[in-house]
Formats: sequence, structure tokens, C-alpha cells
Amino acid sequence: MQYRELGVTGLSVSVLGYGASPLGGVFGAVEEAEGIACVHAALDCGINLIDVSPFYGETAAETLLGKALRGIDRDRYYLSTKVGRYGAQSFDFSPERVTASIDESLARLGVEHVDLLLCHDIEYGSLDQIVDETLPALRRVVAAGKARFVGITGLPLAIFPRILDRVNAEVILSYCHYTLTDTSLDILLPYLRAREIGVINASPLGMGLLGDGPLPDWHPAPTALRAAVTQARALCREWGVELADTAIGWSVARPDIATTLVGSASAAQIRRCVRAAEIAPDPALLQELRVIFRGVRDLSWPSGRPENDPEHHRL
Ligand code: NAD
Repeated sequence: MQYRELGVTGLSVSVLGYGASPLGGVFGAVEEAEGIACVHAALDCGINLIDVSPFYGETAAETLLGKALRGIDRDRYYLSTKVGRYGAQSFDFSPERVTASIDESLARLGVEHVDLLLCHDIEYGSLDQIVDETLPALRRVVAAGKARFVGITGLPLAIFPRILDRVNAEVILSYCHYTLTDTSLDILLPYLRAREIGVINASPLGMGLLGDGPLPDWHPAPTALRAAVTQARALCREWGVELADTAIGWSVARPDIATTLVGSASAAQIRRCVRAAEIAPDPALLQELRVIFRGVRDLSWPSGRPENDPEHHRL
């Protein structure tokens, strides 16, 4: 496993991080013992960053992750959780709620502090509130010793400078924007690098799209994108490799992305992801995949309030 510096935090994070949303049943039912084995396998393979949220399975992911982490030395992993999103349509970025929320998360996780505390999917809130109230409240959480660094997450890339031009945060988490089909995060990387903001790239498999299992009903990928992925999966098999492995090997290679979070609730699968992260995909295969994805490149979907995602709400 390789490690990279996460912005100015001083945290040296594994290039492949572990996303615990599947522990909340987000992608299908989870067997508790297998979920716990998955967390242990991730740590044993050298993954040292774990990301979760009270939103995942409406607290179920944090609860199961807390069970998995019981008895594990706190210095073996960095932990990231979030505030502000609690259900598909349930958001509350008020100082009162986020201040209570971190205490609830710490209790479920069985730890005294998290390393990263992120405002979850800020495009669903008022960006003024995030700047004027939520992030200042998270700074008070840091001052109280319950978190070390703060950040923001979301889908529309334009929200990040709209916040970071006005207030400091040490990290951002972007998802589904640095994958084999969507590389739009590229545009933002120079801005983030100039401000020394740590970059977390989540969902290298496009939330399972580039995997090999059935997609959950909530998956937002448009039909054209799904069709191109089916073609790409077949091409990879002709090359004797899996699309998911190729996607992971490709995503982790970019040096100005500190870490890429992959989600799983299976020990065998997370071990496979770690192996994939160590293999650079064949450039000739990548070129053929680029051709397949040409017509659907950077295809995304609306997320959040229209004023926070004008690009997609205009579509
Ligand atoms: P992902 O792209 O990592 O895909 C996960 C899915 O792919 C799961 O169904 C998993 O079983 C499957 N999978 C994993 N490895 C595989 C392999 N080798 N072969 C085939 N299938 C495989 O999507 P994700 O879980 O949504 O993203 C990773 C993590 O990033 C999340 O768990 C979460 O922690 C974080 N995240 C945060 C936000 C946010 O803050 N808004 C959004 C998305 C993701």
C-alpha cells in the first residue's frame, strides 16, 4: 500500500481508503460478521482511512463500524464521519444539530475523536449557512478535541470554490467525478492544490456501476451510461481483467488525489480492491475504454437545490 499526504493535515493516508456506506445496507443486506471481517481485512491490507456517515443506513453503518473497531488500537486508522445529512431527504446543517450529531457519532463509533469531520452533501443546504454557521460550529467541535480537521462533501463540483473562496476547510470529498467514465474533478484539482486542500476522491466504481453486481434501485446513472459500462465490462473480460479492478488501479494513480475511497461489506472484495490498487492498467486497454466512454464522458445527474447545481438542473 502506498500513502500520500492529505493536504496540510499531516495525515499520511493510504491511496485506497475504505468507505463504510455498504455496512449500512446501502447496496443490499449485510451480514454483520462479514461486515466486521471486511473492516478488519481493510486494516490488515494497510488501509488507514475509514469514512462513514450517520446517513448510511440511517446510523446502521456507524453502529456496525463501531463494533468492528472495538478493541483495535486507535492509532491504526484515521476516521472520517459527517454531519448534516440524516436521510434521503433529511438535512439539518444548523449549529445545534451538527454539534449534537458528532456526539452521537462518537458514541456509536466508540471513539473519543474523529480525524475528519465533513459537512455531508452541502448542495442540499444553504451555502450561506454552511459558511456562516455550520463550519464555524465544526471549528468549535475541533476546539473541543472531538475532531481534528473539517471539510465538505457533495456532487456538483461548482459548490467547492463557492465555499472555499469564503472559508477555510482542510479537505474536500468529491464522489463519482474521478472514475473511468467521469474525470471532471480534473478541472478543480489546480484550485485545490493552490490552496493545499486535501482531496478525497470517493466512489471509483461510480457507486457500484463499474462493479459486477446488480445496481440498487436508487442508482442515478442514466441509461446511456449503463449501456457503455456493459460494453466496457465485456471488453475488459476480453483482455482477461475485470472492469472494477481496472477502474481502481486507474483512480488511485493520480498523485494530486490523496486517497480514493472504495465501498464494500465483504472481506474478499476489499482484499481484491487493494490488489487492484497496486496494478497499473494497460495503457492500450485504457485507450479502448476511452473510446467506449466517449459519448457518455462526464455524464452526471442533478443533486441538491437547483441554485447549488445550476448546470444539471438546466438539463
Ligand atoms: P464505490 O464506487 O466504491 O462502489 C461500491 C460498490 O461497488 C459496492 O456495491 C461494492 O460491493 C462494489 N465493489 C467494491 N469493490 C468491488 C470490486 N472489486 N469488484 C466489484 N464490485 C465491487 O461507491 P461508494 O461505496 O458509494 O463510495 C465509496 C465510499 O465513499 C462510500 O462508502 C462513502 O464512504 C464515500 N462516499 C461519500 C459520499 C459523500 O460524502 N457524499 C458520496 C459517495 C461516497
